[in-house]
Order: sequence, then structure tokens, then C-alpha cells
Amino acid sequence: MKQYRVSAIILGLLLIVCQNSFGQGKKANVVVLATGGTIAGAAASGTQSGYTSGQVTIDAMLDSVPGIRDLANLKGEQVANVGSQDMSFEIMLKLAKRINELLATPEVDGIVITHGTDTMEETAFFLNLTVKSDKPVVLVGSMRPSTAVSADGPLNLFEGVAVAADPKAGGRGVLVVMNDQIQAAHSLTKTSTTAVQTFASPVRGVVGVTAYGKNDFYNDPQWKHTTSSEFDVSSVTRIPRVDVIFADADMAADLIDCSVNNGAKGIVIAGVGNGNMTKAALDAAARAVEKGVVVVRSSRVPTGTVGRNVEVKDDELGFIASGELNPQKARILLSLALLKPHTPQQIQEMFDTY
Ligand code: ASP
Repeated sequence: MKQYRVSAIILGLLLIVCQNSFGQGKKANVVVLATGGTIAGAAASGTQSGYTSGQVTIDAMLDSVPGIRDLANLKGEQVANVGSQDMSFEIMLKLAKRINELLATPEVDGIVITHGTDTMEETAFFLNLTVKSDKPVVLVGSMRPSTAVSADGPLNLFEGVAVAADPKAGGRGVLVVMNDQIQAAHSLTKTSTTAVQTFASPVRGVVGVTAYGKNDFYNDPQWKHTTSSEFDVSSVTRIPRVDVIFADADMAADLIDCSVNNGAKGIVIAGVGNGNMTKAALDAAARAVEKGVVVVRSSRVPTGTVGRNVEVKDDELGFIASGELNPQKARILLSLALLKPHTPQQIQEMFDTY
């Protein structure tokens, strides 16, 4: 009995010591990779709508956010400084390789990427498929430039660092943190040209919320990503050309022929409704498939899915249905898929799982 009491006291003391060392919590090491965008933008006055993206360096941005260095040990690196309308596969590859290099070391616990919002969903999805780590990777941006009255960048950056420093953010794929919401790379999309609440995940909902560094995760992305992804860009230097073609009433077919003639290896149709297009466009798309071009049917409609063989005979014509992926994300997945040997069935399987 006495022996039992002594063991219980020792166990209790051990627990207190452990709790204290976890409670004091070693500060996470987070690297912030900057690429430009409105978050680094500047205007001549606080109320001017016109501004130039990518004017402010990462060190100046970090120094301007009160309390951010209390959240994590931060190091900034300038990878690019562009408006994300100029985001390229070259920069995306550079980012993926640098992130993989950093996260492979035990000294780095998480990554934040500052990025313009225009193509943030594309870079986020590209990294979701090519980062080889379960550590948190978070993109942040802003809708208002750093000089604006009520600029949204500083709090987004603060909250992005708080999420990247949180081990609970790990294993959920690449995340985007803006306007107090945590969203998954697979599912989010930009929905407003100007509003601070621009990002939404219309089909799947958000992964969680964050408020001044307090994070609450309540949704786990179900799609394959990062460490379960088969895509490896470590030795890739060029991405095959994939064009997105917008479908509308009375769509002309020659845009598809033009894309094939200019060397596209893949075409994504931003179809009407459930990935539909005019009969003439369908015929042109079938001609493209016969020439070895992979054709994916996505949709210009912001929510819902594109299913196989609904109104279009995909099995007969050799097309791929994009499922939940919007045209810009379908283009990212198809570009990576084309780097590997593939059959239409294998590519369809990728669209069903990533
Ligand atoms: N054009 C800007 C960009 O994407 C818009 C923004 O960042 O909100 O870089």
C-alpha cells in the first residue's frame, strides 16, 4: 500500500513536470515565404482604390504586425514579388521545392506563404499536391493594400502564422487563412473581386476558424494531399501546356482546334451546367482526344460537381469529368497528371481522389 502511494506521488510529480514543459511550449519555428500580392501592395493614399501589388518586403511586413513574433520564431524569405495575376509555374515549382527543403529539416515546424488572392487557389492546390510533409503550410493574402484604411493584411498574416505554428494544423493539406477562416486548398475559391470575405468553400465548407491566434479546427479535408500524393516535382523544370476554354451559348469550336494546334497537351473546358458545351465544341473536343490531347470537362458554375456520362458520353468520347474541381484547379491537377504516364482511366481516378 505504502509502495503504491510512493509510486502515485512520483507519477504525479512526473505529470506536473511534463505539463509544465509542454505548457511553457517551445515556440514553433515558422518560415514566411513572400511572393507579393495586395498584402504587399501600396497606394498613394489610404482611401485610393488603385494600387500596385508587391511593393513591400517581407521583413517590413513582419515588423508592422504587433505581437506576431510572440506567436513563433519567424524568418522571412522573399521568393518573388509579383501580383498573383503574374504567378507562374516557374514560381510555383520554386515554392514547392523550397518548402520541401525547409520542412525536411527538424528546425522548421511550419510555413506561411504570402500571396496575391487572384490565383491563390491555384498555388494552394499545386502545393497541396506537391508538398511532401505533414507539417502546416498556410497561404495568406489580403484584399486591401498595406496602406489602406482598415487594411486586412496584418491580421490575416498574424492569424496565418498562428495556424502555421499550431501542430493541429498539420496533416490537413495546404490551408488558406483569411478573414478569420481556415480553408482547404482543394475546396476554396475566390468569390468576390473586392470583399474581404472573398474566399469560400461552397461544397465542403471551411476547415475551421481562427480569432487573434486562437484556432478551432472542425473539418478534415477528405481528398488525398501532400504525403499521400503521388506527384513529385523535385526534378521537374517545366509543366506541360494545359489551356482552359470557357463555354457559353453558341460557343465556337475553333478555340479548341487552335489550342491543339498551338501545342496544348491538355484542355479543360469551363463548361455550361454539368460540364456541357455546344455540339460543335464537343466534336472539336473529340478530335482533340483523337490527337492525344486530354480533355477534362469542368464547369463555369461555382458550385456542384461534374459527373461522368450525365449528358455527354464520356466513355465513348474519352473525356474526363472534373468532379468538384473548378476549371482553374482542374488545370493544375491535369498539368501534374500529364507529367506521368497515363491513360484516361488513370487520370479520371486522379480527379476522383485529389
Ligand atoms: N491582384 C492582386 C493579386 O492577386 C489581388 C490581391 O492580392 O488581392 O496579387
